[in-house]
This record gives sequence, C-alpha cells and structure tokens, in this order.
Amino acid sequence: KEPVLEIKGLCVDYGLGEQSVQAVRDVNLTLHRGEVLGLAGESGSGKSTLAYGLTRLLPPPGVITGGKVIYHPPGEPPVDVLQMDNAALRRFRWAETSIVFQGAMNSLNPVHTVATQLMDVLAAHEPNMSREARKDRARELLRLVGIAPDRLDSYPHQLSGGMRQRVMIGMALALEPQVVIMDEPTTALDVVMQRQILRQLVDLRERLGFSVVFITHDLSLLVEFSDRIAIMYGGRIVEEAPSAKLYRDSLHPYSDGLLNAFPPLRGERRELSGIPGSPPDLRAMPTGCAFHPRCPKAFDPCRTDLPPLVVPADHPEQERSVACWLHPGA
Ligand code: ATP
Ligand code: SF4
Ligand code: MG
Repeated sequence: KEPVLEIKGLCVDYGLGEQSVQAVRDVNLTLHRGEVLGLAGESGSGKSTLAYGLTRLLPPPGVITGGKVIYHPPGEPPVDVLQMDNAALRRFRWAETSIVFQGAMNSLNPVHTVATQLMDVLAAHEPNMSREARKDRARELLRLVGIAPDRLDSYPHQLSGGMRQRVMIGMALALEPQVVIMDEPTTALDVVMQRQILRQLVDLRERLGFSVVFITHDLSLLVEFSDRIAIMYGGRIVEEAPSAKLYRDSLHPYSDGLLNAFPPLRGERRELSGIPGSPPDLRAMPTGCAFHPRCPKAFDPCRTDLPPLVVPADHPEQERSVACWLHPGA
C-alpha cells in the first residue's frame, strides 16, 4: 500500500527548559492512501498534540522538538511538512490536509449563514471562482454530508449539533483534501449520531478517495469503522494493528483494558472493567514501560527498560506492531 503521510520519530514538548513536558514521544506512524486510521487512548495520551503537531498547528507553548512528517502528494515527490516554508504550509493545511478540531461544531461563526461560511472557505483558496459557482459548490458539499440544500441559508443556531458537525465536515472537504483529520469530532453528540456521522465519512472516503485519521477514546467506534488502529499511552504509540486483529487479539495489556472499557457493538458481551489507576503524569513518567504501574502483567524488565515498538516475534506474519516486553521483536 502507498503511504500518504509518514510520521517519523515525532516529538512534541509543551514549554521549554525545566518546565517543559514531553507530550508526544518518538511517534512513528504511517497513513496509507484511502485508509481510515483510528487513533485511540485515554485523555492526555497525546492524540490531539500528535494531530496538531503533524499539521504544525500546535498552540503555544507547543514546540516540535524532533522528527519528520513526510507527505506524499499524488504524482509528486515527497516533502517534509516540518521543513515547508509558510506558503507551502498554508497550501498543505488547507488543500492537502483538513483538520476538524475537537469541539469544532461550536466554532462556526454564529453571525454568518452556513452558505456564507462554506463560500468563504472556497473564496479564500480559489479566488477566481465566481459567486454562483461557489454557491453551487456549497450546495453540493451540504448534499455530500447529508444536509438538504434548503439549509444553505440557515444560521448555525438553527441547526442541531449533528448538522453543525456535518457542516464542519463539509468545510473540511471543500478543497478536496488528500487527508482529513477528525479530532474527536463527535464527543458532544449522542452515540447514534456519532455512528451516523462516522459511517457517512467512511462512505465519502470510498467515493472521494481521501485518507482519514480519526481520533477518539471510544475504541468500539474505531473497531467498526477504521481499517487500522493505533493506541497511544503517555505520548507513545504502544500498539498498532488492523482493526479486526486488534479487536480479536490485542497484544498490549493497555489495549486490552481499553477494549474492555467499552461495550461491543456486536458479538458476545464482555464484562466491562475499565482500567484501574490513572494516566501517567508527564512531569514524572514511570521508568521503563510507562504503563507498568497499572499493568496486571508487569514483570521484571518492565520497571526499568522501555519496550520499543516492534513487529512482535510471536506474530511475525501480521502487519502489526507492539511495544510490550510480553511480545519482543525477532
Ligand atoms: P483528550 O482525549 O482529552 O483530548 P489527548 O490525547 O488529545 O487528550 P493532548 O491534548 O494531546 O491529549 O494532551 C497531551 C498532554 O499534553 C496532556 O498531558 C496535556 O496536559 C498536555 N498539554 C496539552 N496542551 C497543553 C498546553 N497548552 N500546555 C501544557 N501542556 C499541555
Ligand atoms: Fe505490561 Fe510490561 Fe507489557 Fe508494559 S511492557 S504493558 S508493564 S507487560
Ligand atoms: Mg484531544
């Protein structure tokens, strides 16, 4: 499979010097063309920081302290997003990669209609497009995300939360990006709505051919809708696998805990347990495996040695990787 984004050794800190905390630690992750990649982990595990870091949209005091983000434009040589000049970066952020932020549906401008906001996005990037053409395109975008065109002249407060979320997705798709990043876009919505929106996104992905990074802490949604899942803990990827494999046979004890924390959508019921203990304090990370204070299977090396993310020797044929001493590399 062809890569569209390759994250290599990405590190992100908040703050400088002694006060700094390392929120993303040496993350390696590849997004393939046309794929839906789910990113899961408890609150504070670094999911949003990773998403903002790779698009260079980190709010201060966030700083990228190392790594590369290689973007592969279709039919052109790959480029490192972290080395782009401002003009290239602006283009990348809008036309190549769109990000729908956590809580984005509340960021629609209350004093402008949906049409105006969609048309503004188009105007900013295609200044030669006529007003009529922009209006047509706005109507088409709404139809794509399942909103009747007669809603074009509505104000955000006249729409339900789910509709506002769809408008945001429409905006993200306005410039036909290669990659759409959704950062927990559905937390505020009810479960039925979450699933509808995700299904729609996956369906659009099939028709339009973009790739999706979908961030959530609800693993059951990812199991249903994503091709691959990456699990984050304490700023690191601790497991990455095709969704079905992760669901059937997760290798990292933290992934097991996350899977047990959500009711399955289908199949046999599991006992819901959650994960005892709390996420690590970035200012005082445990030595060795960061999960060891909470891990029911911790043993000797876990307390002192950091397990690298490797293709596990006990599952060598599968396209998956894990960072756990129970499953060392070959
Ligand atoms: P959630 O599921 O709650 O959205 P997340 O996985 O997206 O969590 P991040 O928001 O990326 O987590 O945060 C990762 C870590 O970085 C957290 O420990 C958080 O406290 C810290 N952090 C985030 N933003 C800042 C900031 N502006 N200044 C200092 N630390 C921050
Ligand atoms: Fe648990 Fe050790 Fe694996 Fe960490 S490395 S998840 S502590 S068994
Ligand atoms: Mg977040």
